[in-house]
Amino acid sequence: TSSETSLKSEPKDEIGFKGHDMLAPFTAGWQSSDVHPLVIQRSEGSYVYDINGKKYLDALAGLWSTALGGNEPRLVQAATEQLKTLPFYHSFWNRTTRPSLDLAKEILDIFTARKMGKVFFTNSGSEANDSQVKLVWYYNNALGRPDKKKFIARNKSYHGSTLISASLSGLPALHQKFDLPAPFVLHTDCPHYWRFHLPGETEEEFSTRLANNLENLILKEGPETIAAFIAEPVMGAGGIQSVVKKYDILFIADEVICAFGRLGTMFGCDKYNIKPDLVSIAKALSSAYMPIGAILVSPEISEVIHSQSNKLGSFAHGFTYSGHPVACAVALEGKGHPREGPERLPRFQDGLKAFSDSPIIGEIRGTGLILGTEFTDNKSPTDLFPPEWEAGDAGSSLGDNIMMSPPLIISPGEIDELICIYGDALKFTE
Ligand code: PLP
Repeated sequence: TSSETSLKSEPKDEIGFKGHDMLAPFTAGWQSSDVHPLVIQRSEGSYVYDINGKKYLDALAGLWSTALGGNEPRLVQAATEQLKTLPFYHSFWNRTTRPSLDLAKEILDIFTARKMGKVFFTNSGSEANDSQVKLVWYYNNALGRPDKKKFIARNKSYHGSTLISASLSGLPALHQKFDLPAPFVLHTDCPHYWRFHLPGETEEEFSTRLANNLENLILKEGPETIAAFIAEPVMGAGGIQSVVKKYDILFIADEVICAFGRLGTMFGCDKYNIKPDLVSIAKALSSAYMPIGAILVSPEISEVIHSQSNKLGSFAHGFTYSGHPVACAVALEGKGHPREGPERLPRFQDGLKAFSDSPIIGEIRGTGLILGTEFTDNKSPTDLFPPEWEAGDAGSSLGDNIMMSPPLIISPGEIDELICIYGDALKFTE
């Protein structure tokens, strides 16, 4: 069972996956014959099982994605029905399918932070953010402002790993050796108070300083050259809104993790009162049962693209699988993700934050069903643990940080189990 074994035992390699043939994403040492990949074979609710039958509580919900857990029959049924009826048809050249039309309407209905105009489908969060850049460039070209093309993103942010989305991301590992970021991307401060505040600075003073730094960057570059600002709502995007609005800079909310209940509200924008011009979604949209992402486009931008298309030609952008009918049918079935049991949110947050006094924890932060732990020596933001990428068993670790974001269907008992595993791991490490 999970709590003892998931901390201690090494994945066995009984059927020979050592030194496998896959160039694995974000994996160190994949080429070495000493590497034992953890091979997952099946899932059930909040748990996954490896090829040796060992059970793991999936505290990261795949990669922040399997919101409805491992085997939601409604989603499997929706995929099966759609596969039997119409496994595929595309959405190019004014052709499309019913599930993609229905899903676009559904997404516009449930996004209530502000009225949005249109939905454009992609296959992933990275493609959604790539598409944002192209769409914004197209929009500014349509408006006759060809110089307004730069993007501002944040240090330490993650927006994907394609050329453009990796450029937007503020993580050096995604840039080094890849000749990135692209020159049109600028990065501004990471809004992590504990890690980056100056001595004696209050949280409010910290936020004001960051907003001022952003404004100074805009003025230095020239507001007429800055097209958009992109941020995740959960990374404290709130105070920035007025600065970008002042300079006619579009606000893109990257809701790839936050959307569909992760923070306790349907969207992150609801929680932080953000009124974006563009939104990226993916992951929990289909609970990751099928690959799908999307961008929501404001009515103003949709209108410009529509009315100017005669001048520039059609919006020549899209993917074979944009609006894939099986992915859309699955996403439609998952609509209105489970919101029952909001008591699970404080149980998760309070239970894990109770470990804040541990001598090796600098900070535990989070909201809703997402949480991160910074491990440090001396409880100091300057003594972080070494920045190595590693996969853990219960959650996942990224350098000095352990991240948790369990399936939204996690039960109170499973949350208690997760807290127990975490506590055991801390005792083991302290
Ligand atoms: N944006 C955010 C906030 C993400 O967390 C991720 C993935 O983790 C992405 C974009 C990229 O999504 P994908 O991996 O589907 O390309």
